Amino acid sequence: MSLQTLFRKVLDGYFLADAEIRYILALPDDRLNELLACAHAIRVARFGTKIGLCAIINAKSGTCSENCSFCAQSGHHGAESPEYPLLPAQDIAQAAAKAQAKGVTRFGIVASGKLVGGRDLAGFTEAVRDVAALGMMPDLSPGILEPAQLKALKKAGLKGYHHNLETSASFFPQMCTTHDYAEDVAAVRAGVEAGLHVCSGGIFGIGESWDDRVELALHLQSLGVQSVPINFLHPIKGTPLEGRSPLSPEEALKLVALYRFLLPDRALRICGGRLTVFGQARKAELLKAGTSGIMVGDYLTIKGGDVASDLEEIGRAGLQPETA
Ligand code: SF4
Repeated sequence: MSLQTLFRKVLDGYFLADAEIRYILALPDDRLNELLACAHAIRVARFGTKIGLCAIINAKSGTCSENCSFCAQSGHHGAESPEYPLLPAQDIAQAAAKAQAKGVTRFGIVASGKLVGGRDLAGFTEAVRDVAALGMMPDLSPGILEPAQLKALKKAGLKGYHHNLETSASFFPQMCTTHDYAEDVAAVRAGVEAGLHVCSGGIFGIGESWDDRVELALHLQSLGVQSVPINFLHPIKGTPLEGRSPLSPEEALKLVALYRFLLPDRALRICGGRLTVFGQARKAELLKAGTSGIMVGDYLTIKGGDVASDLEEIGRAGLQPETA
């Protein structure tokens, strides 16, 4: 077995067997650059040199009923986090227009909470219509949506439904005990069945093992999600994970490259924690690790980076922002 053989196998459209995945996991650190080069080549073969840019707005913040261990917005942890109900549609559309002026094409409306009530559904519907009217692709991350709600939002112009599985089924009970993993899986399935562009991924560096990471990737593959956001833990004061160290840049790069091998034809978007792990100095390295998109601007409760500097890095990496 060799890395080049596995690289060819993925390029030829085959999935890797378990022993082949183990081979990648066991690669020594001094072969990381070789792994990254293969992952980047798979990405170029599947997606060309375009890179997707998305931005989000924290449209409804805090007091969440769930207890996800990494999250500042959980009502269980007492972490400092902004708290407000769903913003008016016009505020959301204004933020979308600002992102659009910086070259962003997908705009995610993100709300804390598990389930969506009637008043919020009406607000989301209006906001989705307004963002779509700008010529942007509106995405929504509202918690778990019922099939009828998905249908109504799709009719209003919704393009993407975002609902992370966060981690593997095996590790999930150590991350959240207020709901079952199966509910999240059902929500993702409902989004796929509704014909939406489903964006579902995870957060890494929360104590999960490499086996958990592989398990999550293979599960997302089988669910048919089109886009996989990769978030890295940014330890937040007041959450149960406040004392954890962020992943090292090398471990994060290996993870992205592994996901490119396991999910060769899915968009891999690097979202939260990008600057926490890579800082300004090393953030360009991610662009050559198999990534096909990045989230720019601010995150949910954390300040993000400067979009202009991300665009410069993208140009230096020989990539171009997707325009539609
Ligand atoms: S990750 Fe989502 S569901 Fe979990 S506590 Fe945070 S807002 Fe709630």
